[in-house]
Amino acid sequence: MKKGVYGLLGAVFMLVLAACATQQLASRQPLRLYVFDCGAIDVLDISVFHPGIGKGERKTLADSCYLVVHPKGTLIWDAGLPDALARMPEGKTLYDMFIMRVTKTLAAQMREIGYTPETIDYLGISHMHGDHVGNASLFPRATLLLQKEEYAAAFGPNPGQYGFDPSTYLALRANPVKILAGDYDIFGDGTVVLKRMLGHTPGHQALYVRLPKTGNILLSGDLAHFTDNWVHKRVPSFNFDKEQSVKTMQEAEQFLKANNAILWIQHDLEQNAGIKRSPAYYD
Ligand SMILES: [Zn+2]
Repeated sequence: MKKGVYGLLGAVFMLVLAACATQQLASRQPLRLYVFDCGAIDVLDISVFHPGIGKGERKTLADSCYLVVHPKGTLIWDAGLPDALARMPEGKTLYDMFIMRVTKTLAAQMREIGYTPETIDYLGISHMHGDHVGNASLFPRATLLLQKEEYAAAFGPNPGQYGFDPSTYLALRANPVKILAGDYDIFGDGTVVLKRMLGHTPGHQALYVRLPKTGNILLSGDLAHFTDNWVHKRVPSFNFDKEQSVKTMQEAEQFLKANNAILWIQHDLEQNAGIKRSPAYYD
């Protein structure tokens, strides 16, 4: 009988050891960047993105989300369109201007590579528009990383003034939050850095990732929505601060040159077509 008890204790001990080893393996993951398909947006009149050009023309934008796996933790960058849209194959129309569709949920894409949203450590959001916070509620444990102006606009008295709809990010009120007033080196080694890039919204930010094999990448947020606007430094009619938007794009261009980095424009459908999607990754 006693022997049986010791045997059982031994087995339990071995299981605990194995669990610890698995945990350690998980926490020693090398730096990786996964790209998820978080939907698409048909814009019915693209001239709202560059006033005076392309009146009445239709254009489709991609909606991308990202997972950064770092030895010290995990970060989701932007939360895309809501997974619930996957149940509406015809899409959902907003302001008679945007038709939003999701074909594959973010939750399913994360599960496919062995990550559960509930375990994610950090949630970096470029800005609080609905196409970037759609799945924010999937990450209740994550520390929300936001610039102070964005937090104030989103949770202040008049979020609608900035194009924010609080019903799309209600759950974030309960998340731990780190409010930023500048660039922020998330893991302390310079490989994953939030870049304060104001203009599109009051506290817009981008994400800079330095990958050992792939090189340096700036994930745009909505610094620009597609290559043509980036090249010509054009600003959408709905940006919070037009002058600041142009200045930020010029500064971002200098930053890219100085750091030998490339810009991934998150909404650019054509550029995204050439970028590997999860389960593939960049390291
Ligand atoms: Zn957007």
